[in-house]
Amino acid sequence: MRSKALALTFVVGCSTWSLAGSPMELGAMVRASGGQPRPIAVRAGRLIDVKNGQVLENVVILIRGERIEVVGRDVAIPADAEVIDLSRHTVLPGLMDMHTHLTGDPSFGYSDHRLHEWPGYAALIGAKNARRTLLAGFTTVRNVGADEWADVALRDAIRNGIVPGPRMYVSAHAIGITGGHCDTNGYRPDAWPEPGIERGIANGVDEAIKAVRYQIKYGADVIKICATGGVLSAGDAVGVPQLTFEEIRAIVQTAAMAERRVAAHAHGTEGIKTAIRAGVASIEHGSMLDEEAIRLMKEHGTYLVPTLMAFESVVAGARSGKLAPWSAKKALEIEPHARRSIQMAIRAGVNIAFGTDAGVFPHGENADEFRLLVQAGMTPIEAIQSATVHAARLLGVENELGTIEPGKLADLIAVRGDPRQDITRLKQVDFVMKGGIVYKRDGVEVPFVPMR
Ligand SMILES: [Zn+2]
Repeated sequence: MRSKALALTFVVGCSTWSLAGSPMELGAMVRASGGQPRPIAVRAGRLIDVKNGQVLENVVILIRGERIEVVGRDVAIPADAEVIDLSRHTVLPGLMDMHTHLTGDPSFGYSDHRLHEWPGYAALIGAKNARRTLLAGFTTVRNVGADEWADVALRDAIRNGIVPGPRMYVSAHAIGITGGHCDTNGYRPDAWPEPGIERGIANGVDEAIKAVRYQIKYGADVIKICATGGVLSAGDAVGVPQLTFEEIRAIVQTAAMAERRVAAHAHGTEGIKTAIRAGVASIEHGSMLDEEAIRLMKEHGTYLVPTLMAFESVVAGARSGKLAPWSAKKALEIEPHARRSIQMAIRAGVNIAFGTDAGVFPHGENADEFRLLVQAGMTPIEAIQSATVHAARLLGVENELGTIEPGKLADLIAVRGDPRQDITRLKQVDFVMKGGIVYKRDGVEVPFVPMR
């Protein structure tokens, strides 16, 4: 490595610019500026400093390659910089959704569409949804549950510059019990091959450990488990616990050995508490919290990922008759609990990270969750923090993402007006930059050029 770097220095030593960084970074520089490795200076009329919950006015953000170099009022703009004028906009860090299913579209609780879809189809659906999600201002997602490794393939295709999309942190197959929320139920036994640990189905501590190691071996960045029943699954009550404390504990410990965190789908109170005690990083949905669950979350530093959009859309589906009957009943039963739980969690100061369950509703509408969070009691700034700094902490990438600061990856978006006054402004993102590359400008998509 050392001799290579020296050789590069020797070759380009007399040039006016240096060849720093990896090939990926270099690619970003070239693409961002039409062939020249020019820095980018973004003039921000307003900049939301999500770390301190403040707004700064008339700020310049200087970007070199994929990273932010300087942020401030008196930044000298280099003569060769490309200037992007967002002086009439509010600029904020790229948004982060901690609960998506990019490789799926809404199926209203029916699983048999998968019988008609060829292998590979899910990844193509994912490419469509990844682009929509990115253009909606979401530059990072945590994708919690996919079949056929479609999420791993999509993550790598985005990373390699083959298709546009957000940075993805993926779980591969969610881990759960036979007949549980993570399984495919309601069909005759020979309709589907009975899944094992390869597809995330595990019973007992030994299988749970194997399932975690298997998902990690083939690309999981995070582990997703189904700790209770769910709304869109057949044959299970929504609140029932579906993994034992011992199983979840083993999953958390095995994941931790590989430096992975665990996200637990959990609706029912008992299952939520079991998952928190076993050490999961986040509770997804968390519909039936009680005082003790709230206290445990604060004690353990567990995050709640509310997915209010999912509740809103399943209730709409139940009322309009789109949902399978078993799902409709569960949706109407659980929604009022979920609404109370999120209000309690906000009041109590539980860690909350933004997450929507996109895939249950159409991708790209993720920012509607902000409206629901504010309705539930968050200030607009708190809601924005949940989708930036707090989400970055939940992922463990707070040194790279989540704020607009020197040294961090240049993920930023801009909207017209002030989202502090009107949070729904975040539904109309005019500008999107991810890793120093502009994907949307003046409300219009910038044509994507594959990197290879
Ligand atoms: Zn989900």
